[in-house]
Amino acid sequence: MAIYECPVCKYDYDEATGAPREGFPPGTAWSDIADDWPCPDCGVREKIDFEQKAGS
Ligand SMILES: [Zn+2]
Repeated sequence: MAIYECPVCKYDYDEATGAPREGFPPGTAWSDIADDWPCPDCGVREKIDFEQKAGS
């Protein structure tokens, strides 16, 4: 499981916990999220802009 961070607002997406309010249950892989999914916090960056923080 890996963590991906928004470069603008530092929102973290953790594959282990998912983003239930976004409709992604715990364990949702980053690769299963649409490339045009916008950051839920700032809304100005999309998935492709996120940077991997940790994990493998
Ligand atoms: Zn953001």
